[in-house]
Amino acid sequence: MKNKLRKVYYQFLKLKSRVLYGRPILVLMYHRINDDVGQKLQDLTVGVSNFENQLIYYKDKFQILKLDEDWISLKKTGVVITFDDGYADNILNALPLLEKHEIPATIFVTTLNINKENEFWWDRLVFDYSSCNEIFYLPNKKDKNLKSDSIYKEIVEKLNNFSNDEKEKWFLEFEKVNHLMFFPRKEYRSLTNLELQLLSKHPLISIGIHTHNHYPLGSLTYEQQKQELLRSLKKLNELEINPTKYLSLPHGSYNIETFNIIKELNLSGALLANNYYSSNRNKVSKKINRILIPNIKDKILAQYLKHYDF
Ligand SMILES: [Zn+2]
Repeated sequence: MKNKLRKVYYQFLKLKSRVLYGRPILVLMYHRINDDVGQKLQDLTVGVSNFENQLIYYKDKFQILKLDEDWISLKKTGVVITFDDGYADNILNALPLLEKHEIPATIFVTTLNINKENEFWWDRLVFDYSSCNEIFYLPNKKDKNLKSDSIYKEIVEKLNNFSNDEKEKWFLEFEKVNHLMFFPRKEYRSLTNLELQLLSKHPLISIGIHTHNHYPLGSLTYEQQKQELLRSLKKLNELEINPTKYLSLPHGSYNIETFNIIKELNLSGALLANNYYSSNRNKVSKKINRILIPNIKDKILAQYLKHYDF
């Protein structure tokens, strides 16, 4: 009886939401599309064949939308595809499949590593941490540490608040005390200038803003946040790329100043990383929810998305 009541109540909420705000829109968040799926420490890579399986499912089941088109009068639940960070595999592996299935996408680019061999710090950390022994050393600490989820989380939180220079120093020391050799891997590189320019001219692709350094904006001052945005816009401008007016928030982090800057720079909105569905009201409020898509397919994918198809 209780279950039946809950089901009826859920149906009521769903109906109410659809009457008030229209059909749900699932704004999907990807990072790397690569068969080098890396270690399990983070869920940021989808394999190439799973990605195609996912695209076919979206085309069959949902109404595919662009980020900056109207989200009203939908016939089905909407789906919007986005990529964060600007990995080279977005053009090498994802684009051919987006073309094959004629699916548009927005790629939010962190300008820091564009045209460089450098890896992002989170990829380097997964490599280093996975490569070191069960018992390892932290920089400037003599004590031995035993690998655990909590210590890994602690390291991530610490690095998240470091500047790039501080991070580099930390990594060099970590690699030294644990006898690791790290060389940037080509599977983790960012787009080159030319690749980014090619993408920006592609009819299916829009380029979006993802700041310059990928610092969590919520921990920065108004002035620092503004610099982060202006620096990345300047770099895109130098490459003659005219980005879409959406900002994808690095690490999903923001504070009240972030939205003051969005208003000041006349941006259309910010994309969060909160695993929640959106609707047309999110366009109006300029806060767009996003759902991280893991490396899954078929029934597991259908089940995963059903949860958000409110
Ligand atoms: Zn990012």
